[in-house]
Amino acid sequence: MELDELYQDILLDHFKHPRNYGPLPEPEVLVDELNPTCGDHIRLTARLENGRVADVRFDGQGCAISLASASMMSELMRGLTPDEARARAADFVAFMRGEKDLDPDTLGDLAALAGVRQFPLRIKCATMSWHALEKALGKLGG
Ligand code: ZN
Repeated sequence: MELDELYQDILLDHFKHPRNYGPLPEPEVLVDELNPTCGDHIRLTARLENGRVADVRFDGQGCAISLASASMMSELMRGLTPDEARARAADFVAFMRGEKDLDPDTLGDLAALAGVRQFPLRIKCATMSWHALEKALGKLGG
């Protein structure tokens, strides 16, 4: 299987079967994030426990890139401290903007989004859920 095909499959899998989809019943924080250039709208809910991210969930409507990226983000954040989560988000945003290289081990499924960097108008689709997470952490005071 070609690498491009593999990445396409990972993206579609997250899009069709988004992880952690649907709001938390008792979120500590809720962030609405819009991406007007594409029409994406996601809502992120999160909860900390013992100084770590216990849950990140999302729901909303958007393109495959925005929803797949949100799904991947929600999987990666659980168990991190707010500082670790913020660093992870900053790394990914810098990667998408072409400001930083990340190795495949660090990227995991996120490597499937690397191709989006060629399409400047779609980069926001990939990063919007990560910005929502940064806002959520800010509201939690973490
Ligand atoms: Zn989009």
